[in-house]
Amino acid sequence: MDKRYQTSIEARSELDPADWEAFRNTAHGLLDDVIGFLANAEEAPWQPLPEDIRKTYALDGERSSLDALRREFSETLMPYHGGNIHPRFFGWVQGTGLASSLLSEMVVASMNANLGGRNHAAVEIERAVVNWSKTVMGFPETASGILVTGTSQATVLALSVARCKLLGKDVRAKGNQNQNLVIFAAETVHTALKKATELLGLGSENIIPVKIVDGAIDPSDLQLKIQKARAEGAVPLAIVATAGTVDAGFYDPFHAIADIAAEENIWLHIDGAFGAWTRLASAHWRALSDGIERADSLVFDFHKWPFVQYDAGMVLIRDEHDHSAAFTEHPNYLETKQDGIAGGAPWFCDYGIDLSRSNRALKIWSAVKLYGVEALGRAIDKNCELAAYFAALVDASPYLEMAIAPVSNVVLFSAKDRGEFETVAARNDALVLKMQMEGIAVFSTTKISGETVMRGAIVNHRTRAEDMRLIVDYLESELSR
Ligand SMILES: *Cc1c(COP(=O)(O)O)cnc(C)c1O
Repeated sequence: MDKRYQTSIEARSELDPADWEAFRNTAHGLLDDVIGFLANAEEAPWQPLPEDIRKTYALDGERSSLDALRREFSETLMPYHGGNIHPRFFGWVQGTGLASSLLSEMVVASMNANLGGRNHAAVEIERAVVNWSKTVMGFPETASGILVTGTSQATVLALSVARCKLLGKDVRAKGNQNQNLVIFAAETVHTALKKATELLGLGSENIIPVKIVDGAIDPSDLQLKIQKARAEGAVPLAIVATAGTVDAGFYDPFHAIADIAAEENIWLHIDGAFGAWTRLASAHWRALSDGIERADSLVFDFHKWPFVQYDAGMVLIRDEHDHSAAFTEHPNYLETKQDGIAGGAPWFCDYGIDLSRSNRALKIWSAVKLYGVEALGRAIDKNCELAAYFAALVDASPYLEMAIAPVSNVVLFSAKDRGEFETVAARNDALVLKMQMEGIAVFSTTKISGETVMRGAIVNHRTRAEDMRLIVDYLESELSR
């Protein structure tokens, strides 16, 4: 036998620490490092990753001792984070992350549970998270749900269930069978919908755009588009509405849309990636998402507004039977049993496409357990209040203006004049970059009526009013030169 390695089948594995005491000491040290890192998150904005440090990441065969590994984590990795732990990070829609997950993720790593199914505690934790989510979102007892990577994947699952419900279980074996399936959505809908239709073979050109008025779907145009599509022989698969558009944080009129969906017997899907969470907020912002409980499928992220660590999104399906019909698969090697570890049906692998599944549930469960639903709600309220406060500072400034008054937590604003730049848009772009590079704050940009504006999505539990004042002061000093 030609052997590459000297092995001993008698020996303990070298893949476990040879000395658990030494491992314990280093791990305790690392725990101090990461707690210090989070406790000082306010002092550490984004900074560019130096090239000589990036090079040290290559897996070039060189090994690290346990202590060297700790130093690599703490000294060459963590300082170059993506910025979203910082109180003045508002780029895209990225949550901050909670200290509770530091604890839960240690447990997750230790248990190494596979949440595809079977009979063990971690699966029950996910069930508890799904049940809690059903209550928060106003879904009935008969609903089901599953944690996935995020709203993008959740959208694929939701449309897959909608298709199976519409065309019957045969669609799983026979495909779409040349049905001209169409989906109705606003142009402002997230590209996750486009990708989902492409992945499912529905084709993104079969998304029929519905007119928007004041940022939201116009129900009468929706009605017209459905009639027109039907007259042309198309088969409506779903109406897609959004709670919190990614660009501006607008909400569609869910009751009016749900009425149409019910009348026309069309599946109603709601993308509530971050916006669904105003369900936890005070009346004024909560009202924005009134009616989302009428959706046939609702998708949302825990890694955005509830501030939980990546990745964690969920799809809720109003009727569990529809959900499992689309995904259940029990080959010989996955037979469920009454008792033993192979018990515990239904299994989560029957609610989605992943068979092996990570434990996304514990970090969510821990956050709800430790902080409570009221604290999460207050943090969401506070983000909306900070958006309004920021808008007031901008409105009062001679150098800045709001592009759109904030509806919830998204601020869209602009320099008033172009200064020495070609256009105001170019100046906005330059300001966003300068604030990033100088470690002041992270905003992103978007286009409103074709013009580049600065955009902040506040899903950040660390932000305070003083952060907003600091930013506006900085911008005013830049713009007044
Ligand atoms: C972020 C977002 C998505 C995509 O969600 P991921 O979790 O990033 O996959 C979809 N829709 C809206 C409105 C979003 O804000």
